[in-house]
Amino acid sequence: MKKGILIVISGPSGSGKGTVIKRLMELDRSFVYSVSATTRAPREGEKNGVNYYFIDKDDFRRRIDADMMLEYAEYCGNYYGTPKKEVNENLAKGRSVILEIEVAGAMQIKKKCPDAVLLMITPPDYATLEARLRGRGDNVPEEVIRKRLDTAKVELSHLSEYDYVVVNGDNMVDTAAHDIIGVVEAEKLRVARQSEYTENFFA
Ligand code: 5GP
Repeated sequence: MKKGILIVISGPSGSGKGTVIKRLMELDRSFVYSVSATTRAPREGEKNGVNYYFIDKDDFRRRIDADMMLEYAEYCGNYYGTPKKEVNENLAKGRSVILEIEVAGAMQIKKKCPDAVLLMITPPDYATLEARLRGRGDNVPEEVIRKRLDTAKVELSHLSEYDYVVVNGDNMVDTAAHDIIGVVEAEKLRVARQSEYTENFFA
């Protein structure tokens, strides 16, 4: 059985990453979305075990010590991490697994799992990013917007460490989702992922 592909997707707040991934999962139901663990409080409408596993800091640290996390990072004062077991089980079954994680976690995966595919979803340009973050309304204080913009700058500065960039233009969610499907289809054809074929051809 051929192993599935581990796909890491990052993107700054305002990139539309969540919407693109949601669309991707609708278009191709063969992907498995890895549900992360987090110590942050659930937002309205979020469900335990669906959006995240919501756990407390002691539980999170216990899982780190027990080597149950594939990667983890602290982000805005909370821990976020990928439970190892589910990811490995799905990859072994040949399913491609999506990790929606921030840059520090993505860099850990890059080191630990060299055959993972790292992809960043970005807005078309800085002006669009700013317009999106301001356009969300709900009276977000200026300092919060500035902080999100600064964080986005830091995240985008890691772009060259990723394998692919998918630009998510305004009203282009479908195109971005199809771009990701195209990346994964091409990755499946990599010679390095088809060693069985090259080894058995003349057998
Ligand atoms: P939010 O609190 O908005 O759901 O997520 C904040 C950030 O944490 C996002 O960039 C999200 O991609 C990232 N994140 C979510 N789950 C994980 C995880 O398991 N590991 C890491 N490193 N980052 C995560």
